[in-house]
Amino acid sequence: MNMIESVKKAIHYNTIQNILQYYICPEECEAHCCKNGQIHIFEEEYMNFSLIDPEKAKRIQSEMPASPLYRIETPCSFLKPHDRCGIYYQRPIVCALYPFKVNTSGNSIGLQPCPVGFLIIREFALWIISNISNTNLPDDEKAKYIADWEKTVESYAEELSGFHMKNTLKEIQIPFDELEMFSIYMASKNLPKINSGLDLG
Ligand code: SF4
Ligand code: SF4
Repeated sequence: MNMIESVKKAIHYNTIQNILQYYICPEECEAHCCKNGQIHIFEEEYMNFSLIDPEKAKRIQSEMPASPLYRIETPCSFLKPHDRCGIYYQRPIVCALYPFKVNTSGNSIGLQPCPVGFLIIREFALWIISNISNTNLPDDEKAKYIADWEKTVESYAEELSGFHMKNTLKEIQIPFDELEMFSIYMASKNLPKINSGLDLG
């Protein structure tokens, strides 16, 4: 297994794609994830960018010697007019994951409240609340857990407000075991699958 495949396995990449397939980015977002912030990619991915378009790849900088990573200068030079990814089917892992974001824990994944990320957080919270409601916990404990989750959703709704003007976003951390169960729950709803991401033209 090569390095990229190993990383994908470690971060439950396929599970994340199974969740993202039910979501689509709103046009009004204008691809903020490609225009702002830090986007780090692997050397192998940088080499691929160089093969596709050496001129555009000049805007990708090595983070060496401290790290084997490369940094895409934002806005990304591979972003097409009308805010679509010009290399959608070859985009790096970090782009295909977003609004999920890798953390250093090794047992969970971050999820940022951009417009699509917030929809996922809200659905995740509703799923947790439904699970809590079906437990045998005493009613007062159930009510407390549910109120906590409702407050959590409210706090991410506030974070979403004006998210494109914030340098960093507070993100929810989802343990991998809950991510897997949430993915099964999403599949059980038989929702139409939408091609998520930026490949609309
Ligand atoms: S992933 Fe989020 S920030 Fe990126 S285009 Fe979609 S909604 Fe916007
Ligand atoms: S999704 Fe495409 S356009 Fe956006 S940052 Fe990644 S490679 Fe660049």
